Amino acid sequence: MILVTGGLGYIGSHTVVELLKSEEVLILDNLYNSEKKVLNRIDQITGKDPVFIEGDIRDEKLLDQIFTRYNIESVIHFAGLKAVGESVEVPLRYYDHNVNGTLTLLKAMAKHKVFNLVFSSSATVYGDKNPVPFHEEMPLSTTNPYGTTKRMIEEMLGDLSRSDEKWRIMILRYFNPVGAHSSGLIGESPKGIPNNLMPFICQVAKGERPKLNIFGNDYNTPDGTGVRDYIHVVDLARGHVLALEYLLKNIGLEIVNLGTGRGYSVLEMVKTFEKVNQISIPFEVVNRRSGDIASCYASTDKAKVILKFDAHKNLEDMCADAWYYMNLGENQ
Ligand code: NAD
Ligand code: UDP
Repeated sequence: MILVTGGLGYIGSHTVVELLKSEEVLILDNLYNSEKKVLNRIDQITGKDPVFIEGDIRDEKLLDQIFTRYNIESVIHFAGLKAVGESVEVPLRYYDHNVNGTLTLLKAMAKHKVFNLVFSSSATVYGDKNPVPFHEEMPLSTTNPYGTTKRMIEEMLGDLSRSDEKWRIMILRYFNPVGAHSSGLIGESPKGIPNNLMPFICQVAKGERPKLNIFGNDYNTPDGTGVRDYIHVVDLARGHVLALEYLLKNIGLEIVNLGTGRGYSVLEMVKTFEKVNQISIPFEVVNRRSGDIASCYASTDKAKVILKFDAHKNLEDMCADAWYYMNLGENQ
């Protein structure tokens, strides 16, 4: 059985859907940023019923009970907080959920001799000093507490792996996950004002917000707006299944980027969304957002070689699926 922490969240729920094709799954989630109805949606899509435990990864006693009661082979660890701006306001909350939460989970895994782990890291650890494309060996630096929690956890996992060769660890650095399951039943539902581009565009398309603010058009990019490597969340989810397969055959720690290797600008994203969904997105160019970099996209060579991973879905699919979910899944 695979323990999926944060399995009712955006990326976790899509990964659970992929895992359920061949595995039994136990989801541990405290519903901090997700809703229980996602469990029914997973059931509707897969016809399967994963075990769900509402609880916190920082709860040592609960983890002890879970590892004692269930036969967990591997852990995919998504649980954590991810809002960059919020992490600047309340850094201790981020260190607590992300770093302390992961530490508590790792201690429970070691105690119960579960040594296989896939961890959600982020392209944010490449910081603002590296040239694109970002490859896994580049030096890391971070510009906000959220990124620093990911960097600290990566270091913790490195030390752990060097301390005992029984650990098999895969650190996945995600680029920009967008889109939704093609059923329209699960997707991204940010609470409050969205920070990220795609959910914001969807809300403008729906008339929930009057216009998109484009944060700067004077970057050193082809059209001056920021460039990112958007990856369809279902491709990302498949990457986790491949990572797990790899872990079971190989010892040690690996760090792998999950992106498409192709960057798109904010304007390209807006135009593609408009074309695919036949809807216009009013926008205004405003000042740059503090902390943003001009371009961010992945070197995908390592993912291709060691995971045999390739993204299948393109920007059109991402825009169509995000909009379909916004109209169907979010309202049910
Ligand atoms: P999400 O917020 O949708 O999912 C995270 C889930 O973890 C939520 O369901 C939340 O309720 C749960 N959770 C939070 N703290 C918890 C705790 N202490 N105990 C138990 N459950 C807890 O986020 P997501 O987009 O699915 O991201 C999943 C992981 O991927 C996170 O670690 C995030 O930092 C990382 N990541 C996300 C992105 C992105 O753009 N979405 C990019 C890079 C990395
Ligand atoms: N962006 C924007 N308006 C928004 C949200 C984002 O112009 O309302 C831009 C942002 O400056 C960046 C790109 O869209 O160039 C992707 O931003 P997002 O927050 O989704 O991802 P991140 O910057 O964290 O990679």
